[in-house]
Amino acid sequence: MTELNIIGAPAEAGAQGPKRSARHPGPLLSQGNTADARCDWTREEIAALFDMPFNDLMFEAQSIHRANHPRNEVQLSTLLSIKTGACPEDCGYCSQSTEADSGLKATKLMDVQAVLQAAAQAKDNGSGRFCMGAAWRNPKARDMPKLVAMVQGVRAMGMETCMTLGMLDEGQARQLADAGLDYYNHNIDTSPENYANVITTRTFEDRIETLENVRNAGINVCCGGIVGMGETRQDRIGFLHALATMPHPESVPINALVPVEGTVLGDMLKDTPLAKIDEVEFVRTVAVARIVMPQSMVRLSAGRESMSEACQALCFMAGANSIFTGDKLLTAANAGDDKDALLLGKLGLTPMMAQPHGHLEAAE
Ligand code: SF4
Repeated sequence: MTELNIIGAPAEAGAQGPKRSARHPGPLLSQGNTADARCDWTREEIAALFDMPFNDLMFEAQSIHRANHPRNEVQLSTLLSIKTGACPEDCGYCSQSTEADSGLKATKLMDVQAVLQAAAQAKDNGSGRFCMGAAWRNPKARDMPKLVAMVQGVRAMGMETCMTLGMLDEGQARQLADAGLDYYNHNIDTSPENYANVITTRTFEDRIETLENVRNAGINVCCGGIVGMGETRQDRIGFLHALATMPHPESVPINALVPVEGTVLGDMLKDTPLAKIDEVEFVRTVAVARIVMPQSMVRLSAGRESMSEACQALCFMAGANSIFTGDKLLTAANAGDDKDALLLGKLGLTPMMAQPHGHLEAAE
């Protein structure tokens, strides 16, 4: 196994613990570490993490989790689709693309009041963050006043705000930042090499450009991807490597593909062994994400409704500390508030309080 240096473990950690050997590697970070997160991970190091014995990997991930986050707290987010369907992009996993034959009914951008009503309900259900998603390649200038009003209204309720609207130029990012947007979601989805197999209407570099505009405007970044799209472990390594070598996103959603009939990937994977990600591999992906991005919130997103409670519990053990609640994730089914409350109760996990003033310093 490659020797690993996880976020600069204190030198004495190895001296106090059992000595590591190839056969019985000792703890990599048994004392935890809140040092600055590394952005110089190599693919070899990340591959070695994936290869660790499962129990060792879980131990490391949970140690790092406890050193960087409140233990047993899970941040609850609610996601609302504020404009559904008819998206000109061709993301192979998405039922909202015009390329998909999913029978989804397209809707216009919602009214501000209706969005605020949904946010108030989410708050009553315990959500600390309200995420608003629109199926666009990018927002138009005429949409911006409504979007700004939505951000201002949700923020006034004391919730964290998040939006996902497609590509943003610098000016749009600044407008949303000025309105008080806390987070912007823009996923890289998969490894740079696999990107063109999933989406052809934009490039990996387009994604990076929007992420830079968002970060430069002072908005926290929410960026992750999807596993179970038929990709290889090398792609999962490349995906986490891309995330861990940029300024770490504050939130990292890890989705398990929900294969929807009529979508390119849903039809391609149907009735194949690849139609469902192996749960152990999924948990490994979450654990590696926690280790390489120790201070980020790692979010279990789409696909959670089809996971067993045991698998979700392992994901929390691996360092996931955020979930989407509610019955729907944009257009896909989600676990639902009651089920979530039961599961969190069973596991002794409690909701994390919202911190709606956590803006980054905007770049000049
Ligand atoms: S994932 Fe987003 S950008 Fe891609 S097709 Fe769906 S709505 Fe459009």
